[in-house]
Amino acid sequence: MLSVDTYINEAARHLKLRPDELELLHTPERVIEVAVPLRRRGKTEIYRGYRIQHSSALGPYKGGLRYHPDVSMDEARILASLMTWKCAVAGLPFCGGKGGIAVDPSTLSEKELEALTRAYIRLIADTIGPDKDVPAPDVNTNPKVMAWIRDEYEKIVGKKAPGVVTGKAIEDGGSEGREEATGEGGAIVLAHIIKNEKFRMKNIRVAIQGFGNVGSHLALALERMGANVVAISDHSGAIYHPEGLKVHDTLNSVHWEGKKLARTCHCAAGGCKIDDCHKLTNQELLELPVDVLVPAAIDNQITRDNAHKIKAKVVLEMANNPTTPVADKILHRCGIKVIPDILANAGGVTVSYFEWLQNQKRQKWSKSKVLSELDKYISRAARQVWQKSQSAKTTLRTAAYIIAVERVLDATRG
Ligand code: NAD
Repeated sequence: MLSVDTYINEAARHLKLRPDELELLHTPERVIEVAVPLRRRGKTEIYRGYRIQHSSALGPYKGGLRYHPDVSMDEARILASLMTWKCAVAGLPFCGGKGGIAVDPSTLSEKELEALTRAYIRLIADTIGPDKDVPAPDVNTNPKVMAWIRDEYEKIVGKKAPGVVTGKAIEDGGSEGREEATGEGGAIVLAHIIKNEKFRMKNIRVAIQGFGNVGSHLALALERMGANVVAISDHSGAIYHPEGLKVHDTLNSVHWEGKKLARTCHCAAGGCKIDDCHKLTNQELLELPVDVLVPAAIDNQITRDNAHKIKAKVVLEMANNPTTPVADKILHRCGIKVIPDILANAGGVTVSYFEWLQNQKRQKWSKSKVLSELDKYISRAARQVWQKSQSAKTTLRTAAYIIAVERVLDATRG
């Protein structure tokens, strides 16, 4: 059983849903598969393209567009469903969509990638649009791809429609604050949950797996709030200093000076040499004696094999699906609080919603307005999930799914 399906079933049990209601939650409204032609090296190559539109109960479909050889209908179905529950928990007027093209973009020139993107959009143009389905960047897609999509779509409909995609460059109708939104949102959620757990942000010890967009902005936000980030990793491995790391300096070394993470050691006390930081594997990072563990890289990192070795009191799921359902049960039995992905990383789609809203209303918000609106939406979501977990006596994950499922069903019933 796939994780999101397991969690919907769990929420459905609490809500005592009928089988037909459960079927409605599991079944995508529309499944689109297209054969995308690309003229290349004197012949036409055909690539499989997908778009899954899971639910329109709360508003337009919303979700990423992925370019990867492993893109498949099954994967897109799970991710589209996850987007529905994430949007619903955050209180956004969107539901889930997801899609992509099964292609290795590194094998194509930029011109070929643009031609492939435009051909895909021509095939699905009548099913997307600011009021229908709003794609966004995902694995191997970026603001440049979004600009091609917007341009192709506007040519087809014959008018300006910046809200057809989000994740655009700022000068092309994108929003301030999108880059840091997911990490900032995660820090806001964590602050709310640990306050209820009666421990304070100041000096809590945090280990973060993944130092890309999400992990680095989360680490910066937590450092600003007074937390002590003691371990950080990327795909090449982890660094750990029991007394803490300077996140800002580490980020400067890795992202701006191009140093390998393992070749840095900016310890909180200052004056550390490279060997003063312990070098760990990503697996060892997960098992460190910290207060908060943050998987912020890829899925399926906490499994039945390592869940019982986790020593953190709280797991903040910044990646999508980092914990398997079996591991989730083990963590619960061990008294470890898991802050679920659909709440923890909802800051990203929330600011995507703000981008769409600015486009629709022809407005331009300052970064401080974006971040203060983000705080309102995410604080409200965290408060509601916490309260539901108390009143329904469930985990935070089940509480989040109960809230999301109730919102979607209420909207479906009209
Ligand atoms: P990214 O590509 O910017 O960064 C990924 C990081 O993970 C990099 O530091 C990379 O080195 C590291 N990594 C890759 N493989 C690893 C491995 N096997 N072990 C340890 N580290 C590894 O990606 P991102 O945008 O930061 O996204 C991270 C996660 O958050 C993904 O699961 C993504 O789906 C999820 N997410 C991202 C956003 C967003 O707004 N970017 C929103 C919601 C969810």
